[in-house]
Amino acid sequence: MLISAVVPCYNEEEVLPLFYEKMCEIMSNMKKTYNNLEFELLFIDDGSKDKTLLKLRELSKLDKRVRFISFSRNFGKESAMFAGLENSKGDYVVVLDADLQHPPDFIPQMYEYVKSGEYDCATTRRVSRKGESPVRSWFARMFYKIMNKISQTEIVDGAQDFRFMTRQMVNSILELKEYNRFSKGIFSWVGYKVKYIEYENVERAAGTTAWSFWKLFLYSIDGICAFSTFPLAISMFLGVLSCTLAVLIFVISLIMSAVAGNDLEFPTIVSLILLLGGLQLACTGILGQYLSKTYLESKKRPIYLVRETEEGIK
Ligand code: UDP
Ligand code: MG
Repeated sequence: MLISAVVPCYNEEEVLPLFYEKMCEIMSNMKKTYNNLEFELLFIDDGSKDKTLLKLRELSKLDKRVRFISFSRNFGKESAMFAGLENSKGDYVVVLDADLQHPPDFIPQMYEYVKSGEYDCATTRRVSRKGESPVRSWFARMFYKIMNKISQTEIVDGAQDFRFMTRQMVNSILELKEYNRFSKGIFSWVGYKVKYIEYENVERAAGTTAWSFWKLFLYSIDGICAFSTFPLAISMFLGVLSCTLAVLIFVISLIMSAVAGNDLEFPTIVSLILLLGGLQLACTGILGQYLSKTYLESKKRPIYLVRETEEGIK
């Protein structure tokens, strides 16, 4: 039985040695407990600008279990995870962050759950957002609320990308080849039996987060567009509302002109222009959003471009 650990890394030179050390400890403990377990550590260097790639080259020379894929530029964590899943060879795959915020200590427990056959996936769920700014937490909570209202795919608040999965589940995830990837949604969309293990948030072991507030905000919009067509329904709603308003205003102007002899032309024209203009803008705006996604999908761009692997530059 081979367990692959898929680790996206973006500027993680500081934390990589700590992570590797921790994983070695876990791997040797697990090897002692269960016989016939093998491991591979598959690092995805997501176009890091620091010495991450150098460190990975060194590690892969020292330890045959270490493999790496280095992107030609920063493609984002979603692409890194996709590349990791696609290139992993394990019967089980665990995806985790390099910064030790996804404590590798959970891996043996996750393995137990999945090995039992009762679950296809074990994952952690943060029950607190300790160490995160209140504004960020508030936005995160709002995001989950909105998302779960407007999308059929349930997204569990506090669920993370720290996942221990069977090969079957990984293959299902790989079948979703969409370009705009939102893993939280994809994990949930493919279904299977998932065990949630609750834990308190852990702060990053070293280095800094690559996710600015703005980046997270854009990511949440991506998530909504990828897993909900509700925004399209808004345009329909606005359209109906707009037309009703137009009729109402026209009727009121008609009555006013009959009763008080008000001028009919001006209010009617102004209200109609404003309403129709607003209606068109709202509709085209929303259509444009989806059109842009369709456009990207139809281009079928590669999800990532590999520049280098442990076998050398391609
Ligand atoms: N990451 C990545 N590409 C990016 C940004 C982040 O591969 O463009 C990796 C990063 O190295 C880490 C994981 O994704 O292993 C989570 O990132 P981070 O810890 O910065 O996010 P946070 O934990 O603050 O949400
Ligand atoms: Mg982190």
